[in-house]
Amino acid sequence: MRVGVVGAAGRMGAEVCRAVDGSDDLDLIAAVDPSASGRALEEVTGARGGDDGVTIAGGLDALVDAGVQVAVEFTGPGSVGDNLVWLLEHGIHAVVGATGLGEEELERARALAADGAANALVAPNFAIGAVLLMRFAAEAARHLPHVEVLELHHDGKVDAPSGTALRTAELIADARSDAPDVPLGDERHPGARGAEHAGVRVHSVRLPGLVAHQEVIFGGTGQTLSLRHDSLDRTSFMPGVLVACREVAGLDGLVVGLEHVL
Ligand code: NAD
Repeated sequence: MRVGVVGAAGRMGAEVCRAVDGSDDLDLIAAVDPSASGRALEEVTGARGGDDGVTIAGGLDALVDAGVQVAVEFTGPGSVGDNLVWLLEHGIHAVVGATGLGEEELERARALAADGAANALVAPNFAIGAVLLMRFAAEAARHLPHVEVLELHHDGKVDAPSGTALRTAELIADARSDAPDVPLGDERHPGARGAEHAGVRVHSVRLPGLVAHQEVIFGGTGQTLSLRHDSLDRTSFMPGVLVACREVAGLDGLVVGLEHVL
């Protein structure tokens, strides 16, 4: 499988370049990132990209020129939608890790993937532990419908709440039969009770030193249940990204969630 990485010079993109380059069955043949256009990929990420080495390109055309079959997208909320549509229009399978995709963009991509030659896997979190946390949270919500989500990330993260927190809230909403009234109280400072998504309160923390963490806290009669996942390092996402690269061609259109390929 010939792989290209979009957002290759970023924190996640660079990690993906190293993981793909280090795998036996995937070839890293292209990298795109306007912030490092023209520079050797090895110098920027430590990943060479084959015997000849890859030069980082400034635009997506480089993926077509190189003959990329699967592109891994880790840019950000401002560009991921356009990039995903572009990839599908050009028949390139997409593994999308960047968060912040709008509902409209997702639906457009879904239609393109349903009609076209390329598939997409969009995952708000590629860490297996986070996927399990979301699954366990949905299970617990059937029995303990009172729940709030606390997500904690490094201070360079652009969007809030995190894509993982939004997806967790949606899975909880789907799983529980009753959405209990959430007491907001007298919120003296706006935001003190967090944001609401799918009827679930979500709280975001941004601090240097953190990577990606989430706690889901359920409350019941005389008890609480806390589920927590910690990504301590960006390598935590790489096994999931590599599985997605291997499996995306066999999917049917666009799917959301790593669980579809596990
Ligand atoms: P970052 O800012 O370090 O890197 C983003 C890179 O994308 C930058 O180098 C930037 O120059 C590049 N870029 C911007 N626009 C581009 C474009 N149009 N074409 C090509 N490259 C472009 O950010 P990060 O910490 O690496 O995170 C990237 C995204 O991944 C964020 O949305 C973040 O929330 C998400 N994320 C997802 C997961 C997951 O498991 N799905 C895990 C961690 C982070």
